[in-house]
Amino acid sequence: MTPRVAIIGSGFGGLCMAIQLERAGITSYTVFEKASGLGGTWRDNAYPGAGCDIPSHLYSYSFEKYASWSRRYPGQPEILSYLDRCADKYGVRRKIRFGVEVVAADFTGRSWTLTTASGEEADFDAVVCAVGQLSLPRLPDIPGRDDFAGVSFHSARWDHGHDLTGRHVAVVGNGSSAAQLIPDVAARAARLDLYQRTPSWVIGKADAAFGPLTRMALHHVPGLQSAYRSWIYQYFEAALWPAFAQGWSAGILRARARHHLRGSVADPVLRRKLTPEYPPGCKRILVDSGFYPALTRPNVEVVTDPIVRITPDGLQTTAGTRRADTIVYATGFRTTEFLAPIAVTGRDGSDLRERWREGAEAYLGISVPRFPNLFLLYGPNTNLGHNSIVFMIECQVRHILNCLPLLGSHGPMEVREEVMAAYRRRLERAMAGMVWGRECGSWYKNAQGRITNNWPARTALYRRLTASPPLPAYRFVARSSH
Ligand code: NAP
Repeated sequence: MTPRVAIIGSGFGGLCMAIQLERAGITSYTVFEKASGLGGTWRDNAYPGAGCDIPSHLYSYSFEKYASWSRRYPGQPEILSYLDRCADKYGVRRKIRFGVEVVAADFTGRSWTLTTASGEEADFDAVVCAVGQLSLPRLPDIPGRDDFAGVSFHSARWDHGHDLTGRHVAVVGNGSSAAQLIPDVAARAARLDLYQRTPSWVIGKADAAFGPLTRMALHHVPGLQSAYRSWIYQYFEAALWPAFAQGWSAGILRARARHHLRGSVADPVLRRKLTPEYPPGCKRILVDSGFYPALTRPNVEVVTDPIVRITPDGLQTTAGTRRADTIVYATGFRTTEFLAPIAVTGRDGSDLRERWREGAEAYLGISVPRFPNLFLLYGPNTNLGHNSIVFMIECQVRHILNCLPLLGSHGPMEVREEVMAAYRRRLERAMAGMVWGRECGSWYKNAQGRITNNWPARTALYRRLTASPPLPAYRFVARSSH
């Protein structure tokens, strides 16, 4: 029996799953996409300056290498068009149901019934959730937010119809999104106030455009592109990973960031404001594409006085009120909610939200006990601070492809509760040594302080674990009528 597979989401993860199913000759799948276009985070994050801080020769599918990236760190439009081309080349676009939001998934004892926002129901043998960790924008809980009389929007919902030329713009937040959009906004706005709660560690960006000769060489010289890709991967593993595990390169990373700050910002008062007290890597490290230079412009001010409330014409801080006619919330995403908007009910009525009350968890970030034939891509504890997520997604897709043939022959399969418990203990032990547990808030942690998002080991270990045969970690559950 060829399983009927539902894929929820058409970003890097969902597309990878769909393409690999096509390549395996399994065409009995449907991709549900609530938006009108594919691309996930690369469709949503279209703010000026958006791009990836992992070089695209690595941040792309291993089976669909692309020699013609315009530069080492291309912008969002180029990444989105790469995904568009992949969808067309492998013929998966025709399987995507755009504008269809899945709101509930119920395991019926034999299969999964998905319910869409319009009330339509459809049955599938397996469900692959590829909704990402960074898909739900988080607006801050600042009193008076709704009273603001000007224009305000989240960085992932950029208002392209609103011209910022000559405006007084307030940017709340200073993570990766803010750092990328600020250079463009600062160049256009009359004034930009950056409301910074916690400074970020920032390193320089070794970006470079690829000329026609380099691109031609990458395209035609056998093995060159693979070698370049592999070099980037190995560099991140060898040099960055030890810093996060508080190893040998932690001091070097700190010195590198301090050196970058000294070289970019001459004013010692501003430098002090921008110097974090927590170790680098505790929060996502920013890669500077003009962020520090923008902060030294005369029309830009870094405001560190805490915001008290938002008024109709500005932001009131503990030091007074500052006028703004536009507010950009670069305040990140509801990253620890994972599948929360979808009501997922597994075997014997198990409720996924209830199961994850203390924090989301899944075996290899992919499978949850009592939720047979449900698979997650970029699920709990599979995020990286130092390497390409596409690598992790490809490992997950391979694991799911190893599971699918077993469904037909043995019935629904779910990961064993005791395997999940042992995996959890292993994760906790590994997590204890990681920098993310130190004194800083970040999107990697949930409200209880549990790190639900990051993978606490080298990516090679993840590849090894996900490549091993799924059995005996899983068991088959008897088919029942309910
Ligand atoms: P983020 O890293 O979660 O940053 C959110 C920012 O908003 C933080 O500075 C946070 O301050 C601030 N904030 C939140 N609530 C606030 C409040 N009530 N008052 C004041 N400040 C508040 O979000 P992001 O910048 O959108 O980035 C999210 C992730 O997306 C990144 O870490 C990265 O993994 C990915 N991303 C990658 C790229 C890239 O590849 N270059 C670009 C964009 C995003 P605190 O630090 O004090 O909490």
